[in-house]
Amino acid sequence: MCGIVGFIGSSEAYPILIKGLHRLEYRGYDSAGVAMINPDNRVNVYKTRGKVADLEEYVADKDVSGTIGIAHTRWATHGEPNSTNAHPHVSGNGKIALVHNGTIENYAVLKQALVNHGVQFSSDTDTEVLVKLIEYIKETTNSSTVDAIRSALKTVIGAFAIAVIDRDNPDQLIAARKSSPLVIGLGETGSYLASDATPLVEYTDRVVYLRDDELAILSRHEPLQVINLDNEPANVDIQTLRMSVSELEKGGYPHFMLKEIFEQPRTLRDCIRGRVVNNNTEIKLSGIMDNAEAFKNVGRIVIVACGTSWHAALIGKRLIQDLGKIAVEVEYASEFRYSNPVLNTNDIVIAISQSGETADTLAAIKLARSKGAMVYGVVNAVGSSIARESDTGTYIHVGPEIGVASTKAFTGQVTVLAMMALAIGQLRGTLSKEDTAVIASSIQKLPDYIEETLKLDPLIKELSQTYTYVHNFLYLGRGYNYPTALEGALKLKEISYIHAEGYPAAEMKHGPIALIDRELPTVVIAPHDDLYEKVISNIQQVKARGGEVIAIVTRGDKTISGIADHIIEMPKVIEQLSPIVAAIPLQLLAYHIAIKKGCNVDMPRNLAKSVTVE
Ligand code: GLU
Repeated sequence: MCGIVGFIGSSEAYPILIKGLHRLEYRGYDSAGVAMINPDNRVNVYKTRGKVADLEEYVADKDVSGTIGIAHTRWATHGEPNSTNAHPHVSGNGKIALVHNGTIENYAVLKQALVNHGVQFSSDTDTEVLVKLIEYIKETTNSSTVDAIRSALKTVIGAFAIAVIDRDNPDQLIAARKSSPLVIGLGETGSYLASDATPLVEYTDRVVYLRDDELAILSRHEPLQVINLDNEPANVDIQTLRMSVSELEKGGYPHFMLKEIFEQPRTLRDCIRGRVVNNNTEIKLSGIMDNAEAFKNVGRIVIVACGTSWHAALIGKRLIQDLGKIAVEVEYASEFRYSNPVLNTNDIVIAISQSGETADTLAAIKLARSKGAMVYGVVNAVGSSIARESDTGTYIHVGPEIGVASTKAFTGQVTVLAMMALAIGQLRGTLSKEDTAVIASSIQKLPDYIEETLKLDPLIKELSQTYTYVHNFLYLGRGYNYPTALEGALKLKEISYIHAEGYPAAEMKHGPIALIDRELPTVVIAPHDDLYEKVISNIQQVKARGGEVIAIVTRGDKTISGIADHIIEMPKVIEQLSPIVAAIPLQLLAYHIAIKKGCNVDMPRNLAKSVTVE
């Protein structure tokens, strides 16, 4: 959460900063700000409530000159979104400006100590403590800016990625991180930094991912220098960025979310490529093959994740249990990390995260590793913190996901989990060659199934008209599709603000059935699988109470079409992969309902994509 951008070089900083903020706006968008040191060595700070476009309007007639600057788009954790709490925050003498992503847990104690020394505060944020503390240390100990930042960060408890400029050192941009992401770009005309690599793509492909407790000095005339908080030099590992500008644009679609829904046939091809091999009879995943002994001797698997990734994890649990015959538990990363979990050295922890920066998931894997468990990351963002902190893993390779509501990452995650389950089954001998081949060739056909399913778009768009003014929705599914119901409900609530609950269909009678009436539509995921007959009974129970049913069924279904009010027919696919296909109509339904309601689907209120705070 929060997007940070910084630049120092020979070009004007402001256009680079603003363009970068637009790229990072998916991370937070309640307020935005910039600070540049102008040619007269003045620190100009502009910030405003609202989106990056509001900031641009606000600065239209201001002095934005300067070749060094920092910028921020905020997702508030401490203090309401207003222009005072927006970043950059500035030192009392106006010389130092700082942007921050993360939370300072001991900010109240630090603030009180500074107040006792006469330091004044103007915002409600935790962040302001950082800049005031740096200034205080710098002045009272007569230290350099770098040393003052190092000392300040050593007293801080919490998570931070910061970027700092100081009028006393107009040739240095300083950055540091702990638990929040920060990547540095080394270009021809200057150096860049950002919360993720998207603002850097058009300028350079040479990047350095800063590690925890590292501080980077980006100088106008010197090479990049990285040190730790004890002032010891750290290794600078320059990597090549593989990302293109076109991946970050809407490509003719009105919204990133719609583009990302429609690109799923291609993203799944990318996800599967080179992994379903030998004439579709085998799965090749190096993360599994290179750790064959660990998977053969595994005690149990624990999957940790948050949000949509947690739903993918629930499907992964079924897959790995069914195909690999290993006991699997799924935990919310945020609960797991504080649950004092019992982990053995032969347990494997799978961490799922689109961004690879989810703070709770990152903390969960650090805990798992400290207890001796092997960590397997299932991540989209290449080079992200979770990818680096894991012992091994598999990238989902679906390309940058910009829409805040996850779509292509979900289908990519479930596809990777299906391939992992198959690979584990192969390895452990729990699957026959025939069964492996059936599932592997179905995985290979997934992009075609998705392509077919996307043809439902006009029908779903029309259907969505009926539900624009509904206040509540129920989503039901069983077996493999119980998590699909959870995911469908989550999609709807996050972008349309309609309350929606996902439930295992049979659990409905233990509570939610009391809600059913003509005002509460129920979406039932009911493909032709082992539990099909049972789901029909559940649909009957809804209908008997006057509820309206939208059913997602296998093409050609005759029974449910006679009972449900609306049916959406998806292609026939094996049970284990049905959630991947069933997710498509649910994504489209949520999208069209939200659009009809006039919601900003790419930037839903209060949400941010990469949840880098606890
Ligand atoms: N804690 C800071 C604030 O509230 C930064 C929040 C974030 O990184 O999301 O302003």
